[in-house]
Amino acid sequence: MEMHIESRCIHLEGDRAETRFGAVSFPIYQTATFAHPGPGQSTGYDYTRMQNPTREHLERVVAALEKGSDCIAFSSGMAAIAAVMELFGPGDHLIADADLYGGTVRLFDSISRKNGVDVTYADCSRCDMEELIRENTRAIYLETPTNPMMHVTDLAAMADVAKAHNLLLIVDNTFLSPYLQNPLVLGADIVVHSGTKYLAGHNDTIAGFAVVKDEELSRRLRYLFKTTGAGLSPFDSWLVLRGIQTLAVRMDRAQENAVRLARWLLEQKCVTRVLYPGLETHPGYAVMKKQARGFGAMLTFEVQDRETALRLLERVRLIRFAESLGGTETLLTYPITQTHADVPKDVLAANGITDRTLRLSVGLENFEDLRVDLQEALYG
Ligand SMILES: *Cc1c(COP(=O)(O)O)cnc(C)c1O
Repeated sequence: MEMHIESRCIHLEGDRAETRFGAVSFPIYQTATFAHPGPGQSTGYDYTRMQNPTREHLERVVAALEKGSDCIAFSSGMAAIAAVMELFGPGDHLIADADLYGGTVRLFDSISRKNGVDVTYADCSRCDMEELIRENTRAIYLETPTNPMMHVTDLAAMADVAKAHNLLLIVDNTFLSPYLQNPLVLGADIVVHSGTKYLAGHNDTIAGFAVVKDEELSRRLRYLFKTTGAGLSPFDSWLVLRGIQTLAVRMDRAQENAVRLARWLLEQKCVTRVLYPGLETHPGYAVMKKQARGFGAMLTFEVQDRETALRLLERVRLIRFAESLGGTETLLTYPITQTHADVPKDVLAANGITDRTLRLSVGLENFEDLRVDLQEALYG
């Protein structure tokens, strides 16, 4: 019987990871290189840039959670995305969602363009993809729900389009984590993660992942990985392994808080819009129900004016004003000056990101404490 996901966060099936001493916590193999038993003989490990047992254990855990055949652990989410973009070359064309993590937009607009890769941005949750596909289109790149506007794209439908045109479907699954959504199962070819967020889960390390199910893609990405060298360190690999053990309970709790905060925010007069895909009124609600096991703990809301937004950012006390997400603590982000500062102004406007838009990464605190903090910041 296949183990349930809560168990898979903690155990690999049939795995007794460390057999020599029976250590329950997987050891940190803090070594740069590995000695060979003799000429032509190998332990399977040569040099930590290429393979390291601690990182490999983490990679197997994440591959199992995402139901991929291979996973590569990078030193950051951006390093993972940058490596994936090396699959493309001059003359290639990509279609990307218009509402992506700001750092990804910066990568596409500066580095990928410099490398001759052309990117068309579109709202993948509603546009007609067929119209955007060109002869040289190689891939579709998206997040769902998107950051920060929470658009939801039907992954199975998108995978059908990608297959019909022989395109790679690349999905950044950071917002929901493999606990709530598995894009590879829905037909995606590559899943990327900022492991910094829900997977590591404690705002204490930077990490990234690329997960695939196809052997040829795995071979190409492994080659890029060993050549460009942005592997996750043994110690950071161990930190992420430790974080993943509690992924299920953290996500459940954070989501419970998020649902309640979304409903509370809806009732506030100075809040003009609440974007949370777990609200039945959200346009992506039905698709989320179909393709995910939950709605996550990210929510975006809009207040009546810029002054109210600034007041909140200044006055929250328990909630911290910081970028990032997916940790145990609740963070309030101002996308326009933080995560999306490098996104061109016209793109921000077209996406509806304004100086009244705020994003909450809801954490694991007591709900009442969070509510009171927001209430006092708004009205106190
Ligand atoms: C944070 C984030 C990234 C970048 O990951 P880093 O670990 O910060 O390099 C990519 N995508 C999304 C959705 C993110 O939230």
